Amino acid sequence: MKIRVLGSGAGGGFPQWNCNCNNCQRLRHNNMNGKARTQSSIAVSSDNINWLLINASPDIRAQLEAFPAIQPKEGLRDTGIKAILLIDSQIDHTTGLLMLREGKPLDIYCSEMVKQDLTSGFPVFTMLSHYCTVNHHPIPIDGSSFTIPAIADLRFYTQALKSKAPPYSPHRYDPHDGDNIGVIIEQISTGKKVFYSPGLGEIEPHVMDAMQTVDCLLVDGTFWTNDEMVSLGISQKRARDIGHLPQSGEGGMIEVLNGVQARKILIHINNTNPILDDDSEQRKLLDAAGIEVAYDGLEIDL
Ligand SMILES: [Zn+2]
Ligand SMILES: [Zn+2]
Repeated sequence: MKIRVLGSGAGGGFPQWNCNCNNCQRLRHNNMNGKARTQSSIAVSSDNINWLLINASPDIRAQLEAFPAIQPKEGLRDTGIKAILLIDSQIDHTTGLLMLREGKPLDIYCSEMVKQDLTSGFPVFTMLSHYCTVNHHPIPIDGSSFTIPAIADLRFYTQALKSKAPPYSPHRYDPHDGDNIGVIIEQISTGKKVFYSPGLGEIEPHVMDAMQTVDCLLVDGTFWTNDEMVSLGISQKRARDIGHLPQSGEGGMIEVLNGVQARKILIHINNTNPILDDDSEQRKLLDAAGIEVAYDGLEIDL
């Protein structure tokens, strides 16, 4: 299977439009060895023709323009995107759906809770239905599997993760299973597997099991420290409070990944994270731990 990282940044991207933090400011002024990053999304395919889009970021237009394999091939209107899977209803993962309104019916796979958010607090599905048909396909949240007719040779296992629904969700303060999911993608013919979870607040036993059984991990790389946003004076919220395990420190992602055999790649990197600087000390620590940092355009062949 082939996995294309369309966007490796967290919400806001890198640099973020209004941010003057050490990273954003240095990248903008060419004072840093690092790459700009668009917001969180990947595409996966087993045949390089038919693609599943996982999350639809506000940057989707530029992401598709940068990726010839998913562009129109035949007829007047065409796309390699045959279905869309949403892991939650967050702005940076769903706003891009609005950019796909010119298309044929959209086959969107997401949990019941995500569907509810996208027809109430953030009614993207309702809005889209005035332009194109939205076919919602419910997905399991107990780790069981499903396949998608137009995407050959791939099987998906989806499971609820402990997390919070977005601020605009009617059940923001009343967490439900399915507000956020992790997904294992398996190529049926080869048995190769990848685990994708750009938001991981807590390493639940089933998450550890997933990490132990796959060939490649694409997991939460949002923050380096738990108080990254607090210490910069950007927010009062700590990483763990908003569903992101920091990389450093006790029980952090580096510690968690120690001993995991799979190829390890961090994704969904916030613009404040020092690992965005390829020459940083933090980046050297990741290198030493055998952990990679995703970038836009990275392709993984499994
Ligand atoms: Zn996000
Ligand atoms: Zn910034």
